[in-house]
Amino acid sequence: MWDLVVVGAGPAGASAALAALQARPDARVLLLDRANFPRDKACGDGIAPHAVDVLTGLGVDAVPSDPPVRRLRLGFVTGLPVSREMQRPAYVVRRSEFDARLVAAARDRGATVRRQQVRGLDTRADHVLVDGEPARVVVGADGANGVVRRLARVPGPRDGTVALAIRGYAPVDPDRAGEQVITFAERGWPAYAWSFPLGDGTANVGYGEVVTAGRRPLRAELLARLDLLLPGAGAQASDWRAHHLPLSSGRPRQPDGRVLLAGDALSLVNPLTGEGIYYAVLSGALAGRAAVDPGVADDPGRAYRRAVQRELGRHLRHTSVVAGLARHRPVVEAGVAAARRRQSVFDDLVELGLGRGLLTPRVLAGLLGR
Ligand SMILES: Cc1cc2nc3c(=O)[nH]c(=O)nc-3n(C[C@H](O)[C@H](O)[C@H](O)COP(=O)(O)OP(=O)(O)OC[C@H]3O[C@@H](n4cnc5c(N)ncnc54)[C@H](O)[C@@H]3O)c2cc1C
Repeated sequence: MWDLVVVGAGPAGASAALAALQARPDARVLLLDRANFPRDKACGDGIAPHAVDVLTGLGVDAVPSDPPVRRLRLGFVTGLPVSREMQRPAYVVRRSEFDARLVAAARDRGATVRRQQVRGLDTRADHVLVDGEPARVVVGADGANGVVRRLARVPGPRDGTVALAIRGYAPVDPDRAGEQVITFAERGWPAYAWSFPLGDGTANVGYGEVVTAGRRPLRAELLARLDLLLPGAGAQASDWRAHHLPLSSGRPRQPDGRVLLAGDALSLVNPLTGEGIYYAVLSGALAGRAAVDPGVADDPGRAYRRAVQRELGRHLRHTSVVAGLARHRPVVEAGVAAARRRQSVFDDLVELGLGRGLLTPRVLAGLLGR
């Protein structure tokens, strides 16, 4: 009997294994992934400092000591953008490298890491069978299209809350070398293109937008929109890869019981920015702790849901409100203009988009002031 079986070894799954073994070093933890690591994952590779904090707390050194960029530029193709230094620098690390480091750390701490594509989940009174193998608790960290949520019969994301994004790697444009650049689409927010320099002469470039009922944009359309928003950014790019992002709608649907969902599997992606790695490592860590906590052994799902609410509840509700407001271009324009006027508004917006910030009075004043 495993104390914990984690399905999916991305940031959420590896963090769950790490946190469980940090809390209970003698726990029997199995970490499963259908891929061998290192493996690639479609992502902008932007790692928020908040994610680094969580990982540091888990005893993992997951990013280089020197972040490649400290500035962030936000705006539309037309009109003045805002470009400012962030309060805390963000990191840009290829996911092939970042995720492999986390998996290696989990293995070093005592997790059994195995390549396996999970297909079956059977919930019994006091344990769960994962492909026939018994576990006291299961963490489903198998991403946006994972099987655990479906097999546990937890409702998926609502219509209009899933985005599709594509990324590639290109030589960094000298004009965009010193900053992370985000250019908003004119319509259909949240939709934007990005260029995130990796610090080695390469940039992660990409574009994403919300998928509306039955209308999945084609790859050629995504690339055309990238070129419209960041001209030339993708011209010499390679390694194109696209994936879904289940955006948070404010209230994570974690059920009671022995199956806990973390990261993208719980639709924990910031609806303003598409940031999901911070939420993944935080929720993974909370799930891992709840899974091996003898005080909540009768219902780890309920304890974990409460922990997520405590840590992220208000923030998720605020981002949901702002995402609704931001469907109107004038609101986004007002946000950019207010951030240009005041560093403090810029800082609050970054905190809302990358961390666990709230809709502060000064952001609200900035949005409504116009
Ligand atoms: C194009 C794009 C750009 C993005 N840019 C950023 C960004 O810059 N910054 C940011 O913070 N977030 C970004 N995101 C979001 C971020 O990638 C995700 O939120 C994050 O990867 C979630 O981590 P996770 O561990 O929940 O899931 P994942 O990273 O998707 O990991 C899930 C793992 O589960 C495994 N798996 C799936 N099914 C099974 C199965 N049946 N059995 C076994 N294993 C299985 C997969 O192989 C995978 O390794 C972006 C997303 C996209 C698509």
